[in-house]
Amino acid sequence: MPDSMVAARTSDSAGPIQQVDVAVVGAGFAGLYLLHRLRKAGFSTVALEEADDVGGTWYWNRYPGARCDIQTIDYSYTFDPELEAAWTWSEKYATQPEILRYLGFVADRYDLRRDIRFKTRVTKATWDDAAERWLITTANGPSVSCRHYIMATGCLSAPKPPEIDGVKDFKGEIYFTGRWPHDGVDLAGKRVAVIGTGSSGIQSIPLIAEQAAHLTVFQRTPNFALPAHNGPAPADRANLLQGDRAGYREQARQSMTGVPYPQQTAVSWQLSEAERRARFEEAWGKGDLVYILTQLWADQGVDVDGNALICDFIREKIGEVVKDPDTAAALMPHDHPFGAKRPCLDTNYYATYNRPNVTLVNLRQEPIKAITTDSITTDKRSVGIDVIVFATGFDAMTGAITAVHPITGRGGKSLSDVWAHGPESYLGLTVAGFPNFFMITGPGSPSVLSNMAVSIEQHVDWVVDQLAALRQAGFNTIEATEAAQAGWAKHMGDCASLTLHRLANTWYTGANVPGKVQGVMPYCGGVGPYRSICDEVVSRGMLGFKLSGPNVAAQCNDGEVVRLQPDVRLVLGMLAQMNLPPLESFGAQGARDFLAQFNAARPAGRPVGAVGDGMLQGAEGPLPYKLYKPATAGPHPIVVYFHGGGWVLGDELSDDPFCRDMCRRTDMIFVSVGYRHAPEHRFPAAAEDGYAATKWIAAHATEIGGTPGPVLVAGWSAGGNIAAVTCQLARDRGGPEIAGQLLICPVTDCTFDRPSYNDNATGYFLTRSLMFWFWDLYCAPADRTDPRVSPLRGRVEGLPPAFIATCEFDPLRDEGVAYAEALAAAGVAVEQLKARGHFHSSLTMVDVVITGVSARVQMAHALRRFAGLPEAQTSPGYRIAAAAS
Ligand SMILES: Cc1cc2nc3c(=O)[nH]c(=O)nc-3n(C[C@H](O)[C@H](O)[C@H](O)COP(=O)(O)OP(=O)(O)OC[C@H]3O[C@@H](n4cnc5c(N)ncnc54)[C@H](O)[C@@H]3O)c2cc1C
Repeated sequence: MPDSMVAARTSDSAGPIQQVDVAVVGAGFAGLYLLHRLRKAGFSTVALEEADDVGGTWYWNRYPGARCDIQTIDYSYTFDPELEAAWTWSEKYATQPEILRYLGFVADRYDLRRDIRFKTRVTKATWDDAAERWLITTANGPSVSCRHYIMATGCLSAPKPPEIDGVKDFKGEIYFTGRWPHDGVDLAGKRVAVIGTGSSGIQSIPLIAEQAAHLTVFQRTPNFALPAHNGPAPADRANLLQGDRAGYREQARQSMTGVPYPQQTAVSWQLSEAERRARFEEAWGKGDLVYILTQLWADQGVDVDGNALICDFIREKIGEVVKDPDTAAALMPHDHPFGAKRPCLDTNYYATYNRPNVTLVNLRQEPIKAITTDSITTDKRSVGIDVIVFATGFDAMTGAITAVHPITGRGGKSLSDVWAHGPESYLGLTVAGFPNFFMITGPGSPSVLSNMAVSIEQHVDWVVDQLAALRQAGFNTIEATEAAQAGWAKHMGDCASLTLHRLANTWYTGANVPGKVQGVMPYCGGVGPYRSICDEVVSRGMLGFKLSGPNVAAQCNDGEVVRLQPDVRLVLGMLAQMNLPPLESFGAQGARDFLAQFNAARPAGRPVGAVGDGMLQGAEGPLPYKLYKPATAGPHPIVVYFHGGGWVLGDELSDDPFCRDMCRRTDMIFVSVGYRHAPEHRFPAAAEDGYAATKWIAAHATEIGGTPGPVLVAGWSAGGNIAAVTCQLARDRGGPEIAGQLLICPVTDCTFDRPSYNDNATGYFLTRSLMFWFWDLYCAPADRTDPRVSPLRGRVEGLPPAFIATCEFDPLRDEGVAYAEALAAAGVAVEQLKARGHFHSSLTMVDVVITGVSARVQMAHALRRFAGLPEAQTSPGYRIAAAAS
């Protein structure tokens, strides 16, 4: 329906309906910038705000000690260099009053208040399919009819109600940190209770302790907190910003967290204990959350062991500050990895517990039984109280959105119903079935895992740019498709599985609100990658959106924007940026040199019990080998391993990190064989070396520390080919006995006409033309059907049990699958792993492609099973806390 006809319907029961192009809910950081951008883009607009002034978070959270925890030079608008020049922050972490003044300053500077209706709570919203407009109902004042409806209602703006019986009986004063009285609270001489030790509690407790006669802190779950070392903005950061403001801001936009720090590459096990301690002490001294969360070592946020090192350091610090050992122990978190729950920045937090007027009550040991008129009673004591401060946090990310109820989309469906099993969205921005509806920093976007100022600007820019583009193209509606939304959920899950967030019960996962569906709600893939995905959606013709308009053909370019695993996407993106010439253009030696250089830049493999080397007897002479022994007492079963490299590249060391990783996971010896390469040694040199090496290793098993008896074989790519061929030769030539074969993305056949060769011909590192080149160097066309290079053409009956892993984006995918099917059809026990979102190198790029871990876990289980060993013990990890903080 055209806007002119809609405008004719100008009233409802509450009076005249306000007509605008775009309605915004909220006037915090996001709402203010939205108003500014929408106006500049020529949209009529109104912002509806429950508070009586701008500021959002910073309007409501006025508790003592409220500050930002991202350095203020980073936690600012960056869209207008003149605005940046016009405002100077007084502190590294500004206080709530200063941030509120800043947002007021921004509102005045761009004259935003004239389009904000204050003291106006939005109560419901209904999509009118015929009019293609939203009708927004408010608690007071006229409703609003708008083409587009944007929720800028904040991730942390719906305070969580207390969950303790008897609060209503309490006759003293009650305050919520998230709704602190504007004229302050006089706590002098009073007995105060603070319930909750999240960020707001940790910020306010030291200041409340200074005023109160006595402060009792009721703690359910301790949090990691670090000293903020507040003061002026640190000179190094300020200089970086002043030196190249535009560059600094751009780096922030492309970074993982929205703060310009580089990706850390050193992994914890590469550093000595002294180096790790030095890094930690430096981070502790900086008082910078993003720094300590990202700059210690590369595995701190993705690996339980790398993370545990930091937890130990912080617990040590707590022990050094807090004098009473029981109190110190109670303050030490043990139930979550560092960073899985938002750590806090503090000023004198731990030292506050040394004050004589402060008591910590550990609710894990003595839960609250009741709140009476003037006391809080636990299992063990009753504490007289005049004032209760609830610092119990928020119904994060979804609370403020679903508080508007119902938001009714297409077909009369309400958002709360659609989200009954957890929030679903496309890009965290839109929801299928809710046309022209947007969320700023909604669930599914980086939001609370980022510097929100950067994320808010990115979201607002993206939304307003798209609205302007739609208008320009004559479209009235935009709506995410179900397929795109489902794809996003998959990608969200892939990203979350990379991090340790899933190991903690937190407000990131909804665990702090009783009855809330649990799952990691923010996007864990990083701010820069997220931005590039949003841009990709646009560059691919609004991928995953249905667009319609009165005078244009409807458009729907359906699909999933990210099908790769997140780390694979990063690796391939980096390779694409390097714009390398095709590997085959280097020639064999040039390609070998390149590979050696490339491998040298990889993170080192993890320590194993011992690494040795030696020479074994190949088909036509001695061959080098590398031996990886577990740290446990032997003898161990032996896996003979063949590296990848198209029969042309690599050596016994080139898959070193993988061999180490698998040696650790299997508790078995890995012997990596340096077989001969083409073009110097063409077919069947590699195959015959593989067989001869296996025979030699089996015969010398005891000598090299292995269990006598059957060996196992494994290999990746061309190495997988050699392993498969070895099994056939061993069967046909009377041994050695092989207990099992692990084939990772193996070459099994000489035809190039299977779909995966075309689907993944370019763009995934191993290209179709590179495979042609490898084949040409290794094997003359006349020999290619020989089972010693195309084992799929050989007889596959009577082979050892196999585990065959293939990757979705690999030219070799289909021949690996075909081999598995052929083995199964011949009665060989086969386990197949089809690794979704992975490319040819994913599973062997240990510690670069972290999402390959689960595949390696499965491979290790298979190898142990083949060897007749019991299931490997997996690291106990973290037990998820029974209750949330
Ligand atoms: C104490 C505290 C410290 C923080 N520190 C940082 C930090 O250092 N760095 C960082 O990146 N982030 C921080 N955050 C997160 C912070 O919320 C965001 O940085 C940012 O302020 C969010 O802005 P926003 O405009 O999206 O939402 P908000 O600032 O929350 O504003 C949302 C507005 O919407 C209004 N609203 C909600 N529902 C309705 C409705 N139904 N009708 C009408 N109005 C409605 C609310 O009244 C509110 O004013 C902090 C949060 C808190 C609570």
